[in-house]
Amino acid sequence: MKKTLFLLAVAVGTLCLVACGEKSAPKDAAGAAEKPVVAAPAIPADAQLVIYTSRAEQLIKPIAQAYEKETGVKVAFVSDKAGPLMERLVAEGSNTPADIFMVVDAGNLWQASQKGVLQPIESAVLTANVPAHLRDPKNEWFGLSVRARTIFFNKDKVKAEQLSTYQDLASDKWKGKLCLRSSKTVYNQSLVAMLTADDGKEATEQTVKGWVANLAAPEFADDTKLLEAIAAGQCEVGIANSYYYGRLLEKNPNLNVGVFWANQKGKGAHVNISGAGVVKNAKHKPAAVAFLEWLSSEKAQGLFADSNLEFPVNAKIKPNSIVTAWGEFKQSQINVSQAGSGQADAVILMDKAGYK
Ligand code: FE
Repeated sequence: MKKTLFLLAVAVGTLCLVACGEKSAPKDAAGAAEKPVVAAPAIPADAQLVIYTSRAEQLIKPIAQAYEKETGVKVAFVSDKAGPLMERLVAEGSNTPADIFMVVDAGNLWQASQKGVLQPIESAVLTANVPAHLRDPKNEWFGLSVRARTIFFNKDKVKAEQLSTYQDLASDKWKGKLCLRSSKTVYNQSLVAMLTADDGKEATEQTVKGWVANLAAPEFADDTKLLEAIAAGQCEVGIANSYYYGRLLEKNPNLNVGVFWANQKGKGAHVNISGAGVVKNAKHKPAAVAFLEWLSSEKAQGLFADSNLEFPVNAKIKPNSIVTAWGEFKQSQINVSQAGSGQADAVILMDKAGYK
């Protein structure tokens, strides 16, 4: 019966996949987004590792299957959005069946750490494989893949030489030419938090005001629509996550959109992570640590990063050929935890600047 419920949950989850590599909240699965529910999630009785995740099943299932094939460890997933999963972990407390919390964006991982649902892990393997700026300074979570949030441009209308920094997109020369996704997305909240860490609040507020003044269209609901608007010439430049660009290139290698690595003469382009931490009340802690170590290893990094056209965190592994073609770039070395700690202020700042 438990197995049937789990398969049902998987089937429901598969229908709920969304474009961003995270899944939408299943409306009828346990733990709906509206209110945290503590009802036991459907997990097979023989699961040896339970992962609460916002990542799409299609991305992580093949990786879990590869791990099971190699080690014999049975991995089960409970899928929902990051927020409801965190609430569930808080509500379940020591009764939680979860061993690992796996989501996108350092802001989400930082919040989980703040809520006290993760535990610090001392692992020489993770410390060696995951660069310091892509993991929690307290070792409660670790980046497993990297996405860059950088500048994209219409190749007919803009030359790469005209581009330089996120801040420059606020200058008058881009009036009526810039497209942005909504400020409600955690991706832009993290970007503005990181810019604030670089430039301070006042300067960043001026940057964001300049962006808003330059908008060619109302804020977009997602990165894919924004990139399509750049391709169509509705806007000339915009900011998006690298893997959305990769997905469009997979469909159309002649896409009329170029990627520009922002702030290369300064601090580097803003990067964020998908990552994971071990749950504070994990029942299978050694298995959880072993799985995270495996995910960071040369063996699994290609599989993990390629599944969503991201960059591996482990520097020994090259990205997928589509991603490699974009060339190397300098990443901002600010610890991605600042995307979380600066997020509340970033939301206030964007609101003050009139960024919807
Ligand atoms: Fe996404």
